[in-house]
Amino acid sequence: MDRILRVNLTDLTTRIEETPGEWAGLGGRALTSTIVAREVPPACHPLGPNNKLVFAPGLLSGTSASNSGRLSCGAKSPLTGGIKESNVGGTAAQMFARLGIKALIVEGMPKGAAWYGLRVTRDGVAIQEERELVGKNNFAVLEAIEGRLGKKAGVLSIGTAGEMRVTAANISVRDPSGKLRSHGRGGLGAVMGSKRVKFITIEDEGAPGIQLADPDKFKAASRVFTKALMDHPVSGTGLPTYGTNVLVNILHEAGGLPTRNFTSGRFDGHESICGETMHETIVARGGKPRHGCHAGCVIQCSQVYNDKDGNYLTSGFEYETIWGLGANCTITDLDDIATADSIMDDLGIDSIETAVAFGVAMEAGILPWGDGKEMLRILREEVGQGTALGRVIASGAGAVGRTYGITRVPVVKNQGIPAYDPRSVKGIGITYATTPMGADHTAGYTIATNILNVGGQVDPLKKDGQVELSRNLQIATAAIDSTGMCIFVAFPALDIPECLPAMIDMINARYGAELTGDDVVALGRTVLKTERGFNMAAGMTSVHDRLPEFFRTDPVAPHDAVWDFTDEEVDAFWNF
Ligand code: SF4
Repeated sequence: MDRILRVNLTDLTTRIEETPGEWAGLGGRALTSTIVAREVPPACHPLGPNNKLVFAPGLLSGTSASNSGRLSCGAKSPLTGGIKESNVGGTAAQMFARLGIKALIVEGMPKGAAWYGLRVTRDGVAIQEERELVGKNNFAVLEAIEGRLGKKAGVLSIGTAGEMRVTAANISVRDPSGKLRSHGRGGLGAVMGSKRVKFITIEDEGAPGIQLADPDKFKAASRVFTKALMDHPVSGTGLPTYGTNVLVNILHEAGGLPTRNFTSGRFDGHESICGETMHETIVARGGKPRHGCHAGCVIQCSQVYNDKDGNYLTSGFEYETIWGLGANCTITDLDDIATADSIMDDLGIDSIETAVAFGVAMEAGILPWGDGKEMLRILREEVGQGTALGRVIASGAGAVGRTYGITRVPVVKNQGIPAYDPRSVKGIGITYATTPMGADHTAGYTIATNILNVGGQVDPLKKDGQVELSRNLQIATAAIDSTGMCIFVAFPALDIPECLPAMIDMINARYGAELTGDDVVALGRTVLKTERGFNMAAGMTSVHDRLPEFFRTDPVAPHDAVWDFTDEEVDAFWNF
C-alpha cells in the first residue's frame, strides 16, 4: 500500500498515513495540486506556517517505463501568489516510488532558529537538526551528503538563496551522475527555506519496489511507447543531438526569439549561442552531448558542458537559460552563460526567472547590455552575498521592474515570461496568460504545433485556433505531469497514433486499472480546474490572465506583430 509521509516542523513530529481512497488514482501534479488545494488555505502567506510543500512521484515513476522518473513539487508560490507545481528529473521520484511513498507533505514552521534535514528511509521519515551545512550552497551540500550517506542517496536541497527566501529560489535534486536538476519555477526553494529544511535525503535500501498488476501487458506497452519516442524526429533525433538549445536558430528564423528584453524577435548573435555551436563546443572539449536527467530517459536532451580546459562546467544546460542570458541580455559568450548556469545551480535560483530579471536590470541600466562578466559578478558578489541588489535580482523580473520603475517587464502573475515571444507565436501567449502557474511554456507548449508542426499546424501569427490549441495542450500536459513522464513525450504522443494508448496501457498494467483516453483527458481538466479554483480563492481574477501591456502596444520585429487577443477571447480558454 502506498503511503503518505507527513512532517510537521512546528512540533517536530512525523507521521505515516494510509493514502485516502480519493487520492489513490493520482500521482505527480494531480496529487500535489489536489493536496495543496485541499490542505493549504488559499489566502495564507506562502512563507508562513500554513503553506505546505508537497512532493509526489508520478503514476509511472519507479517502473521501467521510459522517461517516467519525474518528481512533482507543489505549494502556494511566493512568486505568483497562486498554486504551483514544478517537476524535475533526478533520482528522487524513482526512490520515493520504490519505497511505496505516494507523497511527502512538509508542513508547519519551526518555532526556534534551528535548521533541519529530513531523512527518508523504508521506515518513514526522520527530522534531524542540521548545523554544518547551513549557509552552504548546493554543490557543498551534495558533496557532504555523499560523504555521510554514500553516492546512492537521493538528495533534495536548497542553496543560500532558499535560506534567504528570495522568490526565485529553487529546490535542487541530485541526478544519477551526482549533478543537479531543479524544481525551478515559482520560488519553491523559498518555501522550503521558510520551513528551515536545508535538505531531504532518501535511502531506498530494503524498499518494497514496484509491483506490476500485469507485467506482460506492461512490457508490451512499454516497448511500443519507447519505439514511438525513438521514431519521432524531435524526441528521437533533434533533442538527443542538440538538446533543447536546438531551438535558438529555429526561434530566430521564426522571429519569435525574444531579444534585448523583448524588443526584437531576432538576435544577430544567435550563431554564437545556438545548439549547433554548443554541440561542436561540447564535442571538441570532451563533454557529453547526450545525458539523461534520470535513469530510463531514452531521449537524453541534457548534456555535460566542459570549459576551455576540458574540465566540467555545467550540465542540464537548457535552451531557456541560454536564450535568457543570451538573446534576452545580448550576451554572446556561451562560456559566460554556462558559468552563470553553474553559479545559479549552486546558489539555488531559477535560471529562467533570473535571466528574465537580468534583462529588466539591463533595461534599467544596472549593468550594460551584453556584459557577461558583470552579470557573473552580480551573481557571485551580490546574489551570492545577499546584498540588497542581489536579493532584488533573485526575487525575479517583477521585483526588478518595480524597484527600478521599468514598464517593459515580461511577467504574468509575476512570473518571468520565457524564451518565446507571444506576439510572434500567439498560441504560447494564450498559455502564458491562462495557465494557473504564471508564465510557463511547459504548461501548454504550443511551440510544438505553431513552430515545429507537431500535431498539425496552427499559423503562429494568426489568432485562429490558438485558444483551442493551448487548451488541448494544457489539459494533456496536466495529465502527463501526473504520470511522472517528461513533457517531451508529448511530441510522439501528438504524432504517432500508438504512443498515447501505450502510455495508458502502462498505467493500466501498473495498477490493474481500465482507464481510457477520455479518463486521461478528464484528469487533465480536473487538475486545471482545481488549480484555477485555488488561485481564485487566493484572490486572483481573470485580470490576472493577461499579458503585460507592452505586448499590445509595441510591435516586434521582424513581423511587426502585436498581441491582439481581446480579453473575451482569452477568457474563452476556460470554457470547458
Ligand atoms: S528528455 Fe531531457 S528533460 Fe526529459 S527526462 Fe530526458 S534528460 Fe530529462
